[in-house]
Amino acid sequence: MHGFSHLRFVLIGSGAVRNNPRRGGPAQILHVGDRVLMFDCGRSACTNLARAGVRVETVDRLFLTHLHFDHICDVPYFVFVGWNNGRRNPLRVFGPEGTEQFIARMIRPPFEQDIASRLGHGKDPFGLDPEVVEIQEEGVLFTEATYQVSAVFTEHGGGMPSVAYRVDVGDHRIVITGDGIPSPRLTEFCRDADLLVSECSGTREFLAWQPWGSWHTTPETLATMASRAGVQRVMIKHLVMEDITGDLAAAEKMADQIRQGYSGEVIVGEDGLEVAIPFHPAKQVSSDEL
Ligand SMILES: [Zn+2]
Ligand SMILES: [Zn+2]
Repeated sequence: MHGFSHLRFVLIGSGAVRNNPRRGGPAQILHVGDRVLMFDCGRSACTNLARAGVRVETVDRLFLTHLHFDHICDVPYFVFVGWNNGRRNPLRVFGPEGTEQFIARMIRPPFEQDIASRLGHGKDPFGLDPEVVEIQEEGVLFTEATYQVSAVFTEHGGGMPSVAYRVDVGDHRIVITGDGIPSPRLTEFCRDADLLVSECSGTREFLAWQPWGSWHTTPETLATMASRAGVQRVMIKHLVMEDITGDLAAAEKMADQIRQGYSGEVIVGEDGLEVAIPFHPAKQVSSDEL
């Protein structure tokens, strides 16, 4: 067996909707050997990719969990700057129902003057139009080289099609959720994962007061799911609560609540936080390493 020393997860953005200067919008990557898989592309995702030492044009697999704007608002920049910089491989975008229309409307129509101008100066159109794969059913999406990507539908309220993704590499398994509440299907999907990267938008008490609160995972429901699934470690992200309450300790408090019902390791997400699999102590990517 080889290649696992190159399995590295990096949380690119640990925040959500609000314009938090310390936390970018939802985005994460998984390095599998030479390949970089990206999951969601929210606010500041491309800037945070650069901070993590990753060039946008080298990322050619983008997986969208759902079409709430906080998860996708950097997609146009991702596509255009990748095209500008000379993307070598076609960009493939996976996502739930609606992804095809989102890409069709967001890339060419609003930027037709820009595109015409660049093509007029001799720019090759290659790399501008992503190939879109809409996920119609659960299960394995594809197998490539040493890894396999699967999807499961998740429950996120408001009629919003939503999926979680799993990457299997040899005996190792990483699950990345979007937004939504745990379900038996999602629990089964997470079975024996090395790492579950899950939203944890707020405490139960906090979410009870939010009109959208019932669409999201609480520390208690996350602890139950991670325990039942036998997950080795959990990283929490989509840390909305601190944005609304101003309590910068909110995420650590939620982590403590998770630990009361789950015996594995709990990691509070931060932008640029990296985890190697098999596990080595998490470290922060600092700017002088770039
Ligand atoms: Zn969100
Ligand atoms: Zn959402």
